[in-house]
Amino acid sequence: LIPISEVFGPVIQGEGPAAGLSTIFVRTGGCDYRCVWCDTLYAVLPENSESWLRMTSEAVFDAVDAIASKIPGGAKTWITLSGGNPAMWPLDELIVMLQTAGHRVTIETQASVVPDWAGLLDGVVLSPKPPSSGEVANFDQVEKWLWAGRHAEYRAIKVVVADDADLEFFGKIHARFASSRAKLYVQPCNPYTSAEGELDVDRLDLMARYSWLCDAVIAQGWMDVHVMPQLHVLASGGGRGK
Ligand code: SF4
Repeated sequence: LIPISEVFGPVIQGEGPAAGLSTIFVRTGGCDYRCVWCDTLYAVLPENSESWLRMTSEAVFDAVDAIASKIPGGAKTWITLSGGNPAMWPLDELIVMLQTAGHRVTIETQASVVPDWAGLLDGVVLSPKPPSSGEVANFDQVEKWLWAGRHAEYRAIKVVVADDADLEFFGKIHARFASSRAKLYVQPCNPYTSAEGELDVDRLDLMARYSWLCDAVIAQGWMDVHVMPQLHVLASGGGRGK
């Protein structure tokens, strides 16, 4: 069974290569990290696990299908597997069911776990965590993920940057992975967190952080790096179901 925190959408994807496109989110519960600025603690902390449903692949598919079947014209959409860390769970059956129904499936993960179904995905977004998270990223795992996902439509590495130490961390990512075919993204840190999933964000503060990051990336000469704010947070404030 798969622990599911929420299935929701369609919403606009706010991050990474599919930013601006509609997607349905499948958010699994549980994570092997505890980032200090995690904005989905309701899907991470064991004390919140009572709100997670333990579902079969078929039940998750049905939940997605109930949403997707209401899309006008019957259009197919991206399905985003997120968390928590979705790579911790057996999602191969679900991925195949969704793809058989005509959807494309992408994942967002910090890359700590490389599941044997990684090669099934249509999109791969890896977010190794910088020093400000309090966690330690494993670049070898990122490399394994990139290889496992080599047949995907896109592969991306997306790094949250809160300060100069994070910028230095991204410099190491850039040095190691800029020559891979993965797209590189940085995004400013969103410090507005809540275990309950309701965020009270200061958009002007977020845009000031974005502006600082734009200047920093240009100053470094990283012309191949996408600098993106979290569009969904700017649009809707982020948090549970957004
Ligand atoms: S890896 Fe992601 S979901 Fe897990 S604690 Fe860090 S920010 Fe939260």
